[in-house]
Amino acid sequence: MLQSNASEIQGISVESLCQEFGTPLYVYDAQTIINKYTLFKNSFSVNSLTINYAVKALSNPSVLKIFKQLGANLDTVSIQEIQLGLHAGFDPKNIVFTPSGVSHEELKKAIDLGVKINIDNLNTLEYVGHIYPTLPICIRFNPHVMAGGNANISVGHIDSKFGISIHQIPLVKRIVETLDINVEGVHMHTGSDILDVDVFLQAADILFDVAKQFDTLKYIDFGSGFKIKYKESDHETDVVEFGKEMSLRFNAFEQEFGKPLTLMFEPGKFMVSESGYFFVKTNLVKQTTSTIFASVDSGFNHLIRPMFYNAHHEIYNVSNPDGKPRIYTVVGYICESDTFGYNRKISEIKEGDILGFKNAGAYCFSMASNYNSRYRPAEILIHNNEAKLIREREVFNDLLKNLVEVDI
Ligand SMILES: *Cc1c(COP(=O)(O)O)cnc(C)c1O
Repeated sequence: MLQSNASEIQGISVESLCQEFGTPLYVYDAQTIINKYTLFKNSFSVNSLTINYAVKALSNPSVLKIFKQLGANLDTVSIQEIQLGLHAGFDPKNIVFTPSGVSHEELKKAIDLGVKINIDNLNTLEYVGHIYPTLPICIRFNPHVMAGGNANISVGHIDSKFGISIHQIPLVKRIVETLDINVEGVHMHTGSDILDVDVFLQAADILFDVAKQFDTLKYIDFGSGFKIKYKESDHETDVVEFGKEMSLRFNAFEQEFGKPLTLMFEPGKFMVSESGYFFVKTNLVKQTTSTIFASVDSGFNHLIRPMFYNAHHEIYNVSNPDGKPRIYTVVGYICESDTFGYNRKISEIKEGDILGFKNAGAYCFSMASNYNSRYRPAEILIHNNEAKLIREREVFNDLLKNLVEVDI
């Protein structure tokens, strides 16, 4: 479901938040995170379910603590994300490290910290087998499923850099058996491009076939790829339907396997995207020959998805919700084409008006940078009807912090 044009969140006025903490401002509604997590969890009926929240979507430790309280584990892709998880109080055994092409040194650090390791290439499998002969590990496979014959919407396609091809299973088994590696998990993550439940289930069937071949198995991790709506016409994964179908298959497989297994997922976007709003202030409304531009006090340095992925984020006027709708192109202040949205119908914008962006919870702050030497915004978490500052806006000293200035 699309987020509302919120002028308040849990009874707290957006205008007052922007006044108190300044703009641009990221605001997350903890209740939405709790609701999404609960919906996801309740969609499955299996004996053992583990949800690893994908930290890279939104990595603020205060948000991680919400997931901890909900009983989630973490999925991480860098040693730094592992450290953030530990900092937020997670037990290392409840953190999975799913890196792509990292150095053996980084992998070793993660293993020494005691987190679960997910291996996505044969070279690393051999390395870990030699150095840590008793370590339980998970192996990431690439199921090579094509959806509708279109390479753009294929999952885990043949050219993907991720995972070990299912066609290499004989070689994987040779390494595993020779080095006596303890494979406790198999995994796939097909990317955020799964259009329907059937495609996911098709890939899942392939992973079940793989799973059969490892009798030390304790869990099967089906990754993520759950779609949410960025605009009204978008397709959204029906997790209730998916959960029903997936549970049936998983329970049948568990029977066939003959030993208890845990069903695992690692959603990021699904859990946090709709919890987030990004609020900016309009600096300038400028009518050119062809276009009305609304120029705001932010840019792709703070929210890069429109420029980077051509992503759509709904934009609405917080300050003048009932104004006459007009057609705006909303642009940022970065000195190159920096556009948040073309030809958007938004109620009349005046200079000083606060605009809100929806779906600002996932891959928004976590991808922000200091380009144009701008400060990264503050982050607010609304929890139990209270607004809590969970990251301060940067200041000039943050820009100077790692500089080594030499006399020229
Ligand atoms: C990014 C990532 C996820 C999360 O994907 P979403 O589309 O945000 O749910 C899960 N698992 C792995 C391994 C990832 O790299």
